[in-house]
Amino acid sequence: MLRVALPNKGRLAEQTVILFERAGLKAESRVERALVANLGSEFQAIFVRAQDIPEFVSDGAADLGVTGADLVAESRQEVRELLDLQFGRCRLALAVRDESPVKAVEELEPGTRVATSFPRITEEYFRSLGMELRIAPVSGAAEIAPHLGVADVIVDLVSTGSTLRVNGLREIVTLMDSTARLIANAKAVDDPLKGPVIGELVVALESVIRAAAKRYLMANVPRDRLAEVKEIIPGLSGPTIVEIQNGNGWVAAHAVVDANRIYQTITRLKAIGAEGILVTPIERLTP
Ligand code: AMP
Repeated sequence: MLRVALPNKGRLAEQTVILFERAGLKAESRVERALVANLGSEFQAIFVRAQDIPEFVSDGAADLGVTGADLVAESRQEVRELLDLQFGRCRLALAVRDESPVKAVEELEPGTRVATSFPRITEEYFRSLGMELRIAPVSGAAEIAPHLGVADVIVDLVSTGSTLRVNGLREIVTLMDSTARLIANAKAVDDPLKGPVIGELVVALESVIRAAAKRYLMANVPRDRLAEVKEIIPGLSGPTIVEIQNGNGWVAAHAVVDANRIYQTITRLKAIGAEGILVTPIERLTP
């Protein structure tokens, strides 16, 4: 059994379990909210704090883990990053009070106090700029620090930006972009028994992630417009063209299409006379 450390709460927890389930690995435990669960027959999940996962993976307590790229970077632990899981997207950003005249990071005075729960990334960032600031480490809720007078600016995770707005703060610069990552212990990846099992997991998760960005589209199209159909829905290797019984001048065209372009794609298909357009989600996509 390979051990996989998964976030037990917070923004990444739910989507992580959904992703594994879509890949065919449903977390099953004997009791609700258990800290350990079976994940298929080859993996065991342990549910721990996202912050602790880089360390658990690095020291071998877990072979694999899912956590944010921001937490991996802040931990300074040696782990192998295997996959960008594409969810939990956020940025680590520096923000000042709304009324501050500061518009760019270079305008911050030496000695400015920065509240952050990412002290290492923040320190390195300012060092790379040759700036000397004072870091005030906090374990959360950095956004309150400027109002309490314990810091002048903050470095914190931002997703929609509404937390900053509500707290009267204004974003100045992004230090790093982050998403959830699949990370692994280097020894486990290189192990002749564990390595191939990890490789299969990566392929399975990748196929789910790839599929999430795609849709399967089917439409009845006039046979004499096939050249345009191929241009509108090229698919992975050209659309599949299927005969319709008693279809006369019509055929069915099937293709995998980009989910984020589905609106334009349907509009263009309708413009060349397509009918019976059907769009369905794809569970897995392995090229
Ligand atoms: P928002 O108001 O959407 O900008 O979210 C900001 C708040 O959510 C901050 O308190 C962040 O610490 C937290 N946050 C946003 N995105 C993430 C993420 N991907 N992982 C963990 N915390 C996050």
